[in-house]
Formats: sequence, structure tokens, C-alpha cells
Amino acid sequence: MDFSFDARTEELRTKLLAFMDERVYPAEAVAEEQRALLASPWDTPAVVGELKAEAKRQGLWNLFLPDAEYGAGLTNLQYAPLAEITGRSPHLAPTALNCAAPDTGNMEVLAQFGDEAQRKQWLEPLLAGEIRSAFAMTEPEVASSDATNIETRIRRDGDSYVVDGRKWYISGAMNPDCKIFIVMGKTDPDGADIRRQQSMILVPRDTPGVEVRRAMQVYGYEDHSHGGHAEVVFDGVRVPASNLIGEEGGGFAIAQARLGPGRIHHCMRLIGMAERAVELTCRRAVSRTAFGKTLAQQGVVQNWIADARVTIEQLRLLVLKTAWLMDTVGNRGAHTEIQAIKIATPRAVVEIIDKAVQAHGAGGVSQDFPLAELWASARTLKLADGPDEVHQRSLARRELKKYL
Ligand SMILES: Cc1cc2nc3c(=O)[nH]c(=O)nc-3n(C[C@H](O)[C@H](O)[C@H](O)COP(=O)(O)OP(=O)(O)OC[C@H]3O[C@@H](n4cnc5c(N)ncnc54)[C@H](O)[C@@H]3O)c2cc1C
Repeated sequence: MDFSFDARTEELRTKLLAFMDERVYPAEAVAEEQRALLASPWDTPAVVGELKAEAKRQGLWNLFLPDAEYGAGLTNLQYAPLAEITGRSPHLAPTALNCAAPDTGNMEVLAQFGDEAQRKQWLEPLLAGEIRSAFAMTEPEVASSDATNIETRIRRDGDSYVVDGRKWYISGAMNPDCKIFIVMGKTDPDGADIRRQQSMILVPRDTPGVEVRRAMQVYGYEDHSHGGHAEVVFDGVRVPASNLIGEEGGGFAIAQARLGPGRIHHCMRLIGMAERAVELTCRRAVSRTAFGKTLAQQGVVQNWIADARVTIEQLRLLVLKTAWLMDTVGNRGAHTEIQAIKIATPRAVVEIIDKAVQAHGAGGVSQDFPLAELWASARTLKLADGPDEVHQRSLARRELKKYL
């Protein structure tokens, strides 16, 4: 078993680490200052455009896409350590490299399932970083962790489809640069097979009947840097029939294919978030004195740091093993491991960041450190892309099958 990075990964890691130090970390405060002066907090601060241009110039662009026709052509194993580095600044770095969710999953769907016209109209500007996109599946009215519950209707009417439904927590949709929604709804709600009732369709933001109604909060934040998480209403939204992605009834299968890579990408970035939290804790601990000792000299703080290091190493190995399996036996063959990391990583990283908050005292919950925002982001990943319990249920079922 070889644990070293190959030459291409090493080269990109070196470049990316320098880009983070020289460009991304200094831009964090600048982005916030610029956002405060924007007409709308949902507009993109100018510094983000500058970061994107520089990342593109340096070849740090579309690293997530394994298909060399569209992206960097890296394997999951090559991309994992790079995504981890971007996770250290999760509100800027993934966007700067055009590797941010939900665009990444949407680009994968278009690359894999879109027809030529759809790829030309939507994939090309997304790959160029000219527009953003959103994925609209979850609905306030039904338990959406079970996609068979989705109630949004996509009705065929002549050469069009008409979309009616209400979605919420649609990430990125508050950002006016988000020009396209991939909407999941039912084309055949009475169909016999509950996994063939759903379809996915492309809905341009400016189509009459699309209303981006409000920004849903995350623990009281509006999450401006992620383009928010919007409630979106589709009221008699008419789009050409050619906007359907793949075939009628194919939505469920596309959703499954989309979520595998998306889940591991989240876990890769979460490890970077945990590394940032540990780094901040160590810096704080050596520089702050309470009751005659630095925090670093307190056994309890040492335990937090040691436990965090042990956990991060375990998580990273599991992520890398999963990435390797995805490359060698495919996403289906890596199903158990993808679910395992999606359960293990947010849970553990929330704990690590929580200890980092504690070590920072009041500063930990403040806007002067990134920890509060990191904690909220990590916590939401126990829900987003499927709640922990749903993954636990299906992982346990596969495990139990061996004994039935
Ligand atoms: C910050 C954020 C961003 C998001 N971004 C998007 C997005 O871009 N697009 C999108 O479509 N959605 C998005 N979501 C929604 C997310 O995917 C859903 O919240 C998630 O799938 C759960 O669906 P639900 O909220 O309807 O919860 P429900 O389905 O109502 O489930 C509630 C709880 O029930 C429990 N539960 C459910 N099923 C089981 C089971 N089988 N066994 C045991 N317990 C169970 C779980 O604890 C679960 O948390 C986002 C959510 C958040 C918080």
C-alpha cells in the first residue's frame, strides 16, 4: 500500500497551498468588507472574480471533474487532497477554483446525462465560471430525505413541460448569478415503480412563474457566501420539452449518480475545515494565558488537540480509501464507504470545531474568527445530501443482508 501522492497531485498541492496563502486567506476579510458595501448581500464581491481569474490562469480550475474532456481529468484519489485544502476556506476557495457545490454536481449531471444542446447552453458557461446553478429537490411539505415523496409536478403539454411546486433550502439560488435550476419533480406520479416516477428538468431562472421567495436561515445566518439557501416557488412554469434531462422517469437514477461524488467532495472539504480549526486552536493555545499557564499547557486542551489529530487521520484514510474505490470499482462498488464517510465525517468534524470554539472563548462564537461559520456549515452536512440516519439505515441493511 503506497500512501504517497503521485507527481501530478504533489505539483497541484504545492501550487494550491501557495494560492491559499497568497490569495485566498487574505481575501477572506476583503470579501466581507466588499459584501457590506454591495447593493445586495447576495451579489458577488469583486475579489471573488479576481480569485477565479487567477486560479484559472494558474491551471487550478475544474479540478473536480474526472472527465478530461471537460475538467482537469484527475482521479478522485488525486482530487481528494486538493479538495481538502480548499475546505480550509470553504466560503471562498471552492468557488475560486470553480469546484463549489452545487455547481459541481450540476456540471457532472450535464456532462453525464445532458444532450449536446443542454451542454452547449448550460455546461459551457458553468465550466467557464460565468454563471452559477442550483439543484432543487427538497420540499417543505414532504419528508424529502425520501425522494419518492417529492410532490412537484412536471406535466407534459404539447412541446412543453409545465412545472408546479415549492422547494426550499435550494443552495446558491439567492445569488443573481445563479441562472439555471435543475428541478426534480414527478412526471408520472401514479406510475407503478416509485423510483421511475421522477424526472429532472432544466428551468432557467428568468422563466415566468419562477419566484425566488426568501432566504432560509442556517442557525440564524443567511449564508451569503454560499449564495444562500432559498425557498423557490414554481408556479405554472413552462419550459421546452427539450429541457428534460435524460428520459422521463430517469430522475431518481440521476440523483443517485449525482450524490455519490458530491458526498465525498463534502467530506474532503470537511477534513480541511477540521485542519483549519486545529491550526487556529494551536495558535490560540500557545498565545493565551489563563490562571498562570498558557492554554497549551492545560491537559484538557492538549487532549482536544490530540483527539482531533487522531480523528482527522482516521477520517482522511477513509476518505482516500473511498476515493480509490470510486476510481477502481466505480461509485456503486464504493457505496458502503461513501455512506460511511458521509456519516463519520460531519459528526466528527462538528465535534472538533466545537472544541476549537471552546478554546477561543467568546471569540469562538464571534465574527472575528471563522469558527462559528465553520461549525454551522459542518453541522448542516449531517442533513444535506441525505440525513445521517438515512445513510445509517441503508448501510446497516447491507451489512445485515449477509446474515439473512
Ligand atoms: C444548509 C442546507 C443546504 C441544503 N441544500 C439543498 C439543495 O441545494 N437542494 C436541495 O434539494 N436540498 C437541499 N437541502 C435539503 C436537504 O437535502 C434535506 O434537508 C435533507 O435531504 C432532509 O430532508 P428534509 O429536510 O425534508 O427532512 P425529513 O425527510 O423530513 O427528515 C427529518 C429527519 O427524519 C429522520 N429520518 C428520515 N428518514 C429516516 C430513516 N429512514 N430512518 C431514521 N430516521 C430518519 C432524520 O433524522 C431526518 O433528519 C439543504 C439543507 C440544508 C440544511
